[in-house]
Amino acid sequence: MNMNKELLEILACPRCHGALEALGDNADEGLSCPACAVVYPVRDDIPVMLVEEAVPLADWQRGQRQAAR
Ligand SMILES: [Zn+2]
Repeated sequence: MNMNKELLEILACPRCHGALEALGDNADEGLSCPACAVVYPVRDDIPVMLVEEAVPLADWQRGQRQAAR
């Protein structure tokens, strides 16, 4: 995914409206919110910016890529 820096600056955490950090090369894995300790996954090159789809950062680091149901 070619997520440029400008786009990354526009995108904000839907929960706290804070800045996001890109994960992976060119943010192809996900966008993390350090304040909320969650990751918004990128699926089919589209960032899923939904609070209910956010994966807890601890789960993400264990390889979990889906929000717990
Ligand atoms: Zn946040």
